Amino acid sequence: MHLADRLGRPLADLRLSVTDRCNLRCSYCMPEEEYRWLPRSDILRFEELTTLVRAFVGCGVEDVRLTGGEPLLRRDIEQLVTMLRGIDGLRDLSMTTNGLLFAPMAARLKAAGLDRITISLDTLQPERFRTLARREGLPQVLASLEAAQAHGFRHTKIDTVLVRGINDDEIVPLFEHARSVGAEIRYIEYMDVGGATHWSLDKVVPASEILAVLERTYGPARRVEVESRAPAKRWLLADGTVFGIVASTTQPFCGTCDRSRVTADGMWFHCLYATHGTNLRALLRAGATNEELRDALRHGWRAREDRGAQLRLEAQAQAERGTLAERATLRDNPHLEMHTRGG
Ligand code: SAM
Ligand code: SF4
Repeated sequence: MHLADRLGRPLADLRLSVTDRCNLRCSYCMPEEEYRWLPRSDILRFEELTTLVRAFVGCGVEDVRLTGGEPLLRRDIEQLVTMLRGIDGLRDLSMTTNGLLFAPMAARLKAAGLDRITISLDTLQPERFRTLARREGLPQVLASLEAAQAHGFRHTKIDTVLVRGINDDEIVPLFEHARSVGAEIRYIEYMDVGGATHWSLDKVVPASEILAVLERTYGPARRVEVESRAPAKRWLLADGTVFGIVASTTQPFCGTCDRSRVTADGMWFHCLYATHGTNLRALLRAGATNEELRDALRHGWRAREDRGAQLRLEAQAQAERGTLAERATLRDNPHLEMHTRGG
């Protein structure tokens, strides 16, 4: 039996950020020149992260995704993978990475027990990559996609954030590339979370348009897994290719959201848009037992009524959808940042 929140949504999926540091500066995520990082002494050790995940699994979490910042910047990350893999009841352990460092680590991560990998890729054009990510790295990302296939990772996904006027002309080329490396592409609508201080509604490429472009090119697509809780709506083409669209901005999925997030310093957020979290690090470091941690998780989840993306959409209908957090607010509270929350 899953633990249910106030809206009847189960606690089933955890995103665990292992670092707030990143080796890219994607313009939709980290557009600023300077960032305030989490204090190193607050970053949870592998033993602490494992204790936390064990408590979450004890409360019904089945799927854990490691994220960042860039998770592969965390030294010896494969050791954490091995430790988490040892937790009874954990069904699926995956990771979202920008792919810069994955290729040389693919074999070790596979051997450590990582089940699945999602690699972010927004463009196939080197010059555009440089503009979008504000760093070099496209060849490494492409090599990582090949490495995922070569090392036997299954159900690999590509996450593509589309931004109007930047990469919305690459819907089809990226689709083709994903197919060529045996990965499933998911197009993500640009969200106005935390650090997305350059967001505006006219930069969002809506799901309806993404689908129309693909159907114009490949013929009609039909929905698969209509009952799924996954944020991506998945579509199937006549030739059997499946792709996903995550319409977080225009069609929020708050009603079925079973996901929460823990930052690298142990703050637990019930929603990507939440402004307040629970300090699990304080509990851990005060010596809480597994049972005490589980009590805190149960208590927190039962009180959850967050539906951040839905509220943003409602604000938009009232023409009140401005930037979620101003730069000064983000500087004061780095926990609001997407690269701290993990996406
Ligand atoms: N650094 C890793 C990466 O880029 O894959 C993991 C962390 S990143 C925050 C996780 C995901 O969030 C990435 O796929 C990224 O494209 C997505 N993301 C970041 N900012 C976003 C935004 N404003 N709107 C939509 N997706 C965003
Ligand atoms: Fe880009 Fe991910 Fe880094 Fe954000 S955390 S800047 S999305 S690579």
